[in-house]
Amino acid sequence: TIGMLAIDSKGNISGACTTSGMAFKMHGRVGDSPIIGAGLYVDNEVGGATSTGVGEEVIRNVGSFLVVELMRRGYHPEEACREAVNRIIKKKPQTAKDIQVGFLAINKKGEYGAYAIQKGFSFAVCNKEKQDILIKGKSIY
Ligand code: ASP
Repeated sequence: TIGMLAIDSKGNISGACTTSGMAFKMHGRVGDSPIIGAGLYVDNEVGGATSTGVGEEVIRNVGSFLVVELMRRGYHPEEACREAVNRIIKKKPQTAKDIQVGFLAINKKGEYGAYAIQKGFSFAVCNKEKQDILIKGKSIY
């Protein structure tokens, strides 16, 4: 999945995501990407979030909506992503350690962050200071 979040000069936030889905998926499977609140969520009052990884776990936790709601409560984008990842692990501690789920988020101030279950999740930032710098996302394992 590729998730994109943007903020314009007026502070308006937008987002998009695209995916090929999981390899060897069941015919007719619907992942998290096309479900608003799961693979992508934007609330222009608060910020936006998007996810990658095992969509079933993201859907179960309404992941991107959760990240945005945590930011509404004052969490920094990275903290919100970490909390959403931890929520997934807490619900399925046995299996979550073997799967990947990552979240990326931005808030109204333009602060951003990401967090994943497994290492190897990176993201790019493009703003006045940074152009397409690949940033290593933090991870639990
Ligand atoms: N999130 C996608 C899905 O579950 C898969 C991916 O991120 O590669 O369909």
